[in-house]
Amino acid sequence: MPSKPTYIVLLGPPASGKGTQAARLCEELELPHIASGDLFRENFKHETELGAKAKAYIDRGALVPDDITIAMVMKRLGRPDCAQGAILDGFPRTIPQAKALDTALAEQGFRVSITPYIAVPDEVIIERVSGRRVCRTCGETYHVKYYPPQEAGLCDQDGGELYQRDDDKPETVRERLKVYWEQTSPLIDYYRKQSTLVEIDGNQPIDAVTKDLRAVFGA
Ligand code: ADP
Ligand code: ADP
Repeated sequence: MPSKPTYIVLLGPPASGKGTQAARLCEELELPHIASGDLFRENFKHETELGAKAKAYIDRGALVPDDITIAMVMKRLGRPDCAQGAILDGFPRTIPQAKALDTALAEQGFRVSITPYIAVPDEVIIERVSGRRVCRTCGETYHVKYYPPQEAGLCDQDGGELYQRDDDKPETVRERLKVYWEQTSPLIDYYRKQSTLVEIDGNQPIDAVTKDLRAVFGA
C-alpha cells in the first residue's frame, strides 16, 4: 500500500531561513516546496487580479486576508505534484489558516506530519532581512554576507538580476515582526498541542540548521 503523504509545515519568523532550508530539503525529500510569499510574488509578476489584491497588504507588512490566502494555497496543494505531500513555507500564518489546512487534509484522511519551528531572535532577523537579495527570474534567495552569490548582484543559477524586496525595508520589517508575534506565533502552541512541533535553533550557520532539520526528517 502506498504510504500516506508527508505534509511538513516550516514555522518561524520572517527571514528565519524557512525558504533557504526548504529549497535544500525539497529535493532530498522529493516533495515540492510551496511558499505562500513566492506564490504572491508570482502573481505580482504576472499582474493577476489576486496579485493586485494582495500587494497593498504585503507592501505595508500586513497579512493578506485569510480567505484569499487559503484559496490560493489550497489550489496549489491540489496540483498533481503534491500527491505525496509538500513542504509548506509561510503557510499557515494564522490559526484560521491552520484550521483550514487541517480540515482540508482531514477530508482526505491525512494530517500535518511535522512542524519544525526555526527559532531566531528578533535582532538577527533584522540583519538577515537587510542583506536578503532575491533573483528576479527564478526567486533563488541570497544574503550579501551569509550566502553571497559568486558574482555580486547576479544569480548563480541563471545569471538573473538580484533585487531587494520592497517589503524588506526596515520599517516594514518591524511591522512584519509585530504581526508575526501577534498572529503567527500562536501556531507554535497550536502545533505543540498536536505533538508535531520540533524546535530547531535557527541562529546557527545555514549548513548547521540543515543538518538539524535532516536529523528531524531522518533524511
Ligand atoms: P524566510 O524564508 O524564513 O523568510 P530566508 O530563507 O529567505 O528566510 O532567509 C532570510 C535571509 O537570511 C536570506 O538572505 C538568507 O540567505 C539568509 N539566511 C538564511 N538562513 C541563514 C542562516 N542560518 N544564517 C545566516 N543567514 C541566513
Ligand atoms: P518572509 O518569509 O520574509 O516572512 P514571505 O515571502 O513568506 O516573507 O511573505 C511575504 C508577505 O506575503 C508577508 O509579509 C505577507 O504580507 C504575505 N504572506 C505570505 N504568506 C502569507 C500567509 N500565509 N498569510 C497571509 N499573508 C501572507
